[in-house]
Amino acid sequence: MCGIVGYVGECGAASVLIGGLKRLEYRGYDSAGVALLDRGEIHVSKAVGKVGMLDEKVRKEWGPDLMERAGTGIAHTRWATHGSPTEANAHPHMDQSGKISLVHNGIIENYRMLRSRLEGNGHQFLSETDTEVLAHLIGDCYKGDLLQAICDALHQVVGTFGIAVISTHEPGRIIAARRGSPIVIGIGLGEVILASDAAVILSRTHRVVYLDDNDIASVTANGIDLRDLDNIPVTRGIAELSLDAGAVEKGGFEHFMLKEIYEQPKALANAIRGRLDVLSGSSVLAGMASSARELAELTRVVMVVA
Ligand code: GLU
Repeated sequence: MCGIVGYVGECGAASVLIGGLKRLEYRGYDSAGVALLDRGEIHVSKAVGKVGMLDEKVRKEWGPDLMERAGTGIAHTRWATHGSPTEANAHPHMDQSGKISLVHNGIIENYRMLRSRLEGNGHQFLSETDTEVLAHLIGDCYKGDLLQAICDALHQVVGTFGIAVISTHEPGRIIAARRGSPIVIGIGLGEVILASDAAVILSRTHRVVYLDDNDIASVTANGIDLRDLDNIPVTRGIAELSLDAGAVEKGGFEHFMLKEIYEQPKALANAIRGRLDVLSGSSVLAGMASSARELAELTRVVMVVA
């Protein structure tokens, strides 16, 4: 299942982000990527397969100086819904200007309509994903205020999202928002770490804020400013998590087997989310390599909920 990590601090974002992705690996994914904001530039690296491969790749591409210096970044483990599991389709995705970078969990249902409208305005897309459309839409709405641009873009979106966005326009800041896909923000000392899963956050802080649907948060190393999608301030309490990371992964259950039994309905719903086309009575299996002919020859299908 897909995952998001974001970090803003003084330095060392890369190792926190990759460490966070490793904590999310147990949920399953097909590709991973990370973006760092440093000295007015966004550096993006992506890999199909294990987070370990992404880790090796960024060490080679970026080297220790950049990895140690950059204090702001976002990262993602993808589970393809729109477009096959390739490097081009992996997140983060950039907007048309190359100044805004986005990671996204969920599905933009009206992405085709938005994409063709943006293409009509000269936007060029590098992936098959719904997520890249959202990145371009935010860029299209940008008039000098990133949070407002994201609000304006999200008002046009039908679907579900947990997102984290960075931009060279506003260094040292991550904007996160959610509708139907969780985002939790951990407030540390001189650093803030956000994720789609509290297990990522606990190694750094136990003070967390859970976003509600249609909340948007502007996050800096010194704290967070919470709004709704009409840019009106909202207040959410800070929760103190007493569980350790292992206990959070077990979700309050005594052991993993019990957790998995109780999570089956939700896991099945998540597994088919965005993959059923109810109108045509068909399915969209973006990560499936087999051809229609090979599929027609299958004699048995086993559904496994992992
Ligand atoms: N719909 C997006 C994609 O296919 C996000 C998938 C996910 O939640 O990982 O790229």
